[in-house]
Amino acid sequence: METIRLPRVMQEMAIREKRAGRTMGFVPTMGALHDGHLSLVKTARSENDLVAVSLFVNPTQFSAGEDFDRYPRAVSEDLEKLSSSGLADFVFLPETQNIYPPDFSTRVEVEGLSERMCGAFRPGHFQGVATIVLKLLNIIQPARAYFGQKDYQQSVIIEKMVKDLNLPLEVAVCPTVREADGLAMSSRNAYLSPGERNAAPALYRALQAGAAALAEGRRDAGGLRALMEGVLRAEPLFSAVDYISAFDAGTLEELENIDKNTVLLAGAARIGTTRLIDNLLVNNLK
Ligand code: AMP
Repeated sequence: METIRLPRVMQEMAIREKRAGRTMGFVPTMGALHDGHLSLVKTARSENDLVAVSLFVNPTQFSAGEDFDRYPRAVSEDLEKLSSSGLADFVFLPETQNIYPPDFSTRVEVEGLSERMCGAFRPGHFQGVATIVLKLLNIIQPARAYFGQKDYQQSVIIEKMVKDLNLPLEVAVCPTVREADGLAMSSRNAYLSPGERNAAPALYRALQAGAAALAEGRRDAGGLRALMEGVLRAEPLFSAVDYISAFDAGTLEELENIDKNTVLLAGAARIGTTRLIDNLLVNNLK
């Protein structure tokens, strides 16, 4: 496993491998790796000749007042996990000033999708995500890039960017990996106090309650919203609920009437100072 810090060196290596006919699978991450990240790396390993993982806490996707400064950083543990797993060939570990030199001035905006759901609460977040992902794709030039369903909105925005900009790669979206009690794995779970960690699976339980109601034939979105919010708020440590609702899985618009075959149930809520997100895709409704 080779660790590369300079974008130019990573890109030259990637171009060499591509010319030699080897396919690259790429997993972009912000580090503090957990089994959710590693599941993407495993899938990438099984579908490509080579695997690259990036570790970069991207400042431009954090709004002012968000957790950029305290976001968990664990580079040596991450390198150890990747190296002992034997799954990665390249780790791209750039310095911020080499990704965003002082004269950097380009932004990628996927309109519409970026304003919905979390976009309404995190202005500029998805512009930061789209911009860094496009840069990383241009540096690593993968045949396939792997994203987690945990960040469903992010995956839809990346798929749209890849389509709109004719990027020559496949986007794969991999299932959410959960703790035994259902909590979606996330680097941010490290922020949770023991009491908050105990309470946190209520978000998944609320989404499951929504999915069960859909399976029983419930179709009023307002009632479904109230049901899910009730389950979530029954856990008093959830201090603020940004949203928990049913969305169109393609356009990410909030549904008023549930008349689709597939529905995205998704929520974002704060527990103490930690913002958690989760979602469930419910299929075969008609
Ligand atoms: P992050 O480091 O949080 O930016 O995540 C890097 C990638 O890992 C993104 O594509 C995430 O969607 C994915 N990911 C994060 N948590 C999970 C999880 N619990 N299960 C599956 N994928 C995940």
